This record gives sequence, structure tokens and C-alpha cells, in this order.
Amino acid sequence: MNLPYAETYRIKMVEAIKTSSRQEREKWLKEAHYNLFNLSSDKVFIDLLTDSGTGAMSDKQWAAMMLGDESYAGSSSYYNLKNAIKHILGFEYFLPTHQGRAAENVLFSVLVKEGDMIPGNSHFDTTKGHIEFRKAKAIDCTIDEAFDTTKFHDFKGSIDIQKLEKVFLENPLEKIPFIIITITNNNAGGQPVSMQNLRDVRKIADKYGVPVVFDSARFAENAYFIKKREAGYADKTIKEIVAEMYSYADAMTMSSKKDAIVNIGGFIAMKSREIYEKATVFNIMFEGFITYGGMAGRDMNALAQGLDEGTEYETLHSRIEQVAHLGGLLKSFGIPVQEPFGGHAIFVDAKRFLPNVPKEEFPAQTLAIELYLESGVRGVEIGAIMADRDPITRENRFPELEFVRLAIPRRTYTNNHINYVAVALKNVFDRRNEIKKGVKIVKESPILRHFTVELDKV
Ligand SMILES: *Cc1c(COP(=O)(O)O)cnc(C)c1O
Repeated sequence: MNLPYAETYRIKMVEAIKTSSRQEREKWLKEAHYNLFNLSSDKVFIDLLTDSGTGAMSDKQWAAMMLGDESYAGSSSYYNLKNAIKHILGFEYFLPTHQGRAAENVLFSVLVKEGDMIPGNSHFDTTKGHIEFRKAKAIDCTIDEAFDTTKFHDFKGSIDIQKLEKVFLENPLEKIPFIIITITNNNAGGQPVSMQNLRDVRKIADKYGVPVVFDSARFAENAYFIKKREAGYADKTIKEIVAEMYSYADAMTMSSKKDAIVNIGGFIAMKSREIYEKATVFNIMFEGFITYGGMAGRDMNALAQGLDEGTEYETLHSRIEQVAHLGGLLKSFGIPVQEPFGGHAIFVDAKRFLPNVPKEEFPAQTLAIELYLESGVRGVEIGAIMADRDPITRENRFPELEFVRLAIPRRTYTNNHINYVAVALKNVFDRRNEIKKGVKIVKESPILRHFTVELDKV
């Protein structure tokens, strides 16, 4: 018999989590205006809202915290992080920021101006937010296969090269400051981008003379999928694959709260000294001096260690197998999920799950609410609420995919927790035909509304 996978860590410290009754959850959710972001964490039993900043740091990371150097300028922690970025990612220049969106804010302050167009693959919500806030446009060039949850494709996160080239052919070049590639493609379901695709995008970028930026939150998971699925990479280490990936990039933004397994932090890294110098001005204004940029010395130390651990095969293998364990259980219950399973989360196809709820009543949000009421499990809507209104017409945007994302924090929950989640969702699935009504928006903010939106039952 083949040995099953098992976690490549053991538990040294535990944190209590609380169960609750359905009655309590009904009351809490009403008070939260049916927005799961408004629930205090003690009202959640298993929290799959996000894998961002929710992972468990290792003993080595905690040890590195104790060695943090809190000097304002030139701390050893800054140099530790600089070395890790140079060695693992290959960038000469970097700026620390307090998290990923801050990295976007600083870099886009240099690169994006009103009227610009930024082609990429399913831009992340904060990325799109920072682009649209500058009155520029994010153009989604993701391959069509990504939008069909029933279709199998090894690299569903990839960019359609023809769609990308069309953007260049139909628009003035000076309107396109760079191409952005999100690895893995979060909004398409944590789907990876192939090395071949990174290479092909690089060719287009060279042809038109524009830089390529990697939005890198889950770059290590992307490398893991390349190792598992792309010809020629099976025998390479994750770090070798990562090095090749970044050989095709000019710059990167990073949310360290994902694959670098820290609770807060981010950075920008780049090859160009010119961009670095321009970004430095904004970093000092928005984030902090260049050798800490919104991070404590101890946090930079933990991040340097996390970059190393997060790019080890063992770490990635047990993580991605756990995500696949959840996906496998849901599939065995007949629940429609995005396939192949993503790296950091299982994406439940809410349109197929709740066919009786019209899209105007937000089926994915409705399903996330039902799952919480059933079990105290918190997932998140990745659908029409998150998609915001069109910045010009102010009409609701209805993306092709309505997902409930069940994001798995790194090294945090056991497979027993995962089993609980799967059964909870099955119970909702068994009564799916009785769920005919969704929710309506009562109050919303003009951008990134899903964080604060207030809803009511239809
Ligand atoms: C999380 C994330 C960001 C933003 O990072 P924060 O640390 O949450 O600010 C940007 N892009 C992608 C792909 C992400 O997953």
C-alpha cells in the first residue's frame, strides 16, 4: 500500500477555538448584516476566510523574531531579508512594505497614470483597486478555460497570449506601462501559471519593450505545480524553479502573509535601479524608511526565514495535499468545485451549487451564509459582490464565476477540521433545492465593497 501523505511538522503550541449553536449563529449573522467579515473571530469555529496572515509560524521563525534588530536605519533584519530575496528570488533591489497592497500602492505610484491599461490574468481585488483608483484600467487576459469549472487544464491561471497581444495591437504603447502576472491566479481559483506561459509573456514584453511585474503572493505554490505538472521540472527543486520563474520578471509585489508564512508583511523587489529610486520616495512617504518600510525588525527576520521554509518541497507538499484532501471529499459528495484543485483553497462553484438563486441575489454570498449557519465555518464570497460596480457605468458586474472560497491557512488546521468542513458543506448541499432566495445590498462603499457591505435577506 502506498503511504499516505502526512504533515511534515508537529504541534508545539495550541490555540483554543469555540463551537456554537445554530441559534447563536443566526443572531450573530443578523447583527453582522450578513457580511462574514463583520463577525468577530470568537464566533467562528473553523476560519477559512483567508489563508492570508493566518498561517502558523515555525519554531525557527519565532526564534528569528527574538533576534530582530529594531534599529531605525540599517538593521541586520533588513539585511537578512535583503539576502533572502536576492538568494531565493534573484532581485538586487527591494523595499519592505507593511503588506502586499502597500507594495502595489508604492510601485503603482511610480508606474501607473490616468488612462493607462494594465493587462494581466484576473487581477487581484486590491491590485485592481489600486489600478482603478488611479483611473487606469485592468484588462483581464486569462485563458478561457479558467472560466469553466468543469474543464480540466493543468495551468488554468495562465495568460492567453493572443488576448495579451491584442491589447498591444489595439492601444497606444505609451498607455501600457507594464504587464502583471498573478502567481498563482487567485481569482481564477488559485490556479497556476506555467513556466512556458511566463516565458511567452516575457517574449511579448520584450517585443513591445514593457516590464513584467509578478504579483507574487503564492509564487511557491505556483512553483510546486510546475514541478508536478510541467514537463522537464520533476527533478528540479522548488528553489531552482522559483529562480527560473523570476528570471522572466522585472519586478514583483509580494504579500508575505501567504507563501512566506508570516502574519503581516510585504515587499517590492526589482531589477531596475531607476524604478527602485523612484519607488523609494513613495515608500518613505507611505510606508517608512527604506530599511523597514512598515515592518518591525523582528517581522523582517521572520519573513526571511519564512521565504526559505515556504520554498521547501516538504512544506508545500503537505499543504497542497491538505487542500486536495478537502477538494477530494467535496467531489466525492458530488459538490461542484473548481478543478483541478487550487493551491491555497477549494473554490466551490456557487452557481452550480445553488441553481435556484438568481445572480442578482448573489448565490456565492448566499452559500457562504448557509455554510456558516450550518457549522460555524467561515468561507468567503469571490463573486459579484467582490467584483464591485463598473467604475464608469456604476452597474453591478457579474463575473462568469461565482465562488465560495474555502482558503486553508498554512500549518494551522488538522485533517479532522477539514473533514468537519466537508460534511458541513454536504449538509447544505443535501438541502440545496430548498434554498431559493439570496441576499440584497443595503449599504456599500464605492470600491472594495465586499469588506464592509451590509446585506439583508431577500
Ligand atoms: C493577498 C494578495 C494581495 C494583497 O496583499 P495584502 O497583503 O493582503 O495587502 C495581492 N495580490 C494577491 C494575488 C494576493 O493574494
